[in-house]
Amino acid sequence: MDMGIKGKWALVCGASKGLGLGCAQALAAEGVNLVLVARGVGALEAAAAAIRQDAPGVQVLTAAGDITSEGGRAAALSVAGGPGTAFDMLVTNAGGPPPGDFRAWDREAWVKALDANMLTPIELIKATVDGMAQRGFGRIVNITSSAVKAPIDILGLSNGARSGLSGFIAGLSRSPLAAQGVTINNLLPGAFDTDRLKAVIAGASEKSGKSQDAIAEARRQTIPARRFGQPAEFGAICAFLCSAHAGYITGQNVLADGGAYPGAF
Ligand code: NAP
Repeated sequence: MDMGIKGKWALVCGASKGLGLGCAQALAAEGVNLVLVARGVGALEAAAAAIRQDAPGVQVLTAAGDITSEGGRAAALSVAGGPGTAFDMLVTNAGGPPPGDFRAWDREAWVKALDANMLTPIELIKATVDGMAQRGFGRIVNITSSAVKAPIDILGLSNGARSGLSGFIAGLSRSPLAAQGVTINNLLPGAFDTDRLKAVIAGASEKSGKSQDAIAEARRQTIPARRFGQPAEFGAICAFLCSAHAGYITGQNVLADGGAYPGAF
């Protein structure tokens, strides 16, 4: 299927690894020009070089920096040779907050989580969405978490901050932007095989004394698909939500979790 988005520009955050990289690769395969953001320059440049090789007709620019900081966002929105703020697509993403007990989290921990997983996406949307509406086309995909639908107690910072974003998006996506060609959706990963999941498994192994393989296998057994998701399949969903064909899908929380969420709705 031709996604109908060749030549458009996407800002993809958290794009040097994992799910963000999967989204960037899938968009590049559809001919979308990219500005990629991550903090570590080495991995970011390696990701950009690999995408340039796989999708030679596509422009791939990088903005190394922390997307949760004002400076990082400003740099991403003004990369030389890029579209400035005139992006057609925006994929918001940043690292998730640490797990723990809510009794140990002070105001600073909460503000950090809210900054990364709620306010940063909102700031990026604020900077880009009106231009999208004026041009009559826009696609915004926020990478959140299956924990928004099925909160996990030790991920309270994530549950809280991402639920705040989800509530905000539910309203904004149904604003007049919806009639101006702009869709805004959240893409909710369950367990995907990325560095982050590996770190979670390593942490659980250290805590329990069980091997990493045993922890990973036990986790796989909780998923009806009996496997972890691959970043490429997550990216393919993102590319479809960004496509010309997905103009009638907005304000949704799209879950990709191998069937782990047990509810009917
Ligand atoms: P990952 O493999 O660790 O990749 C994270 C990417 O984001 C890296 O490119 C990282 O590069 C970049 N990044 C992190 N913080 C950043 C910041 N402040 N500014 C700019 N770039 C930043 O993680 P992932 O598994 O793809 O996870 C992506 C998101 O999905 C996270 O919010 C995670 O909590 C959520 N999630 C993941 C899973 C899963 O199973 N993988 C499940 C549920 C939710 P640098 O570190 O160099 O900046």
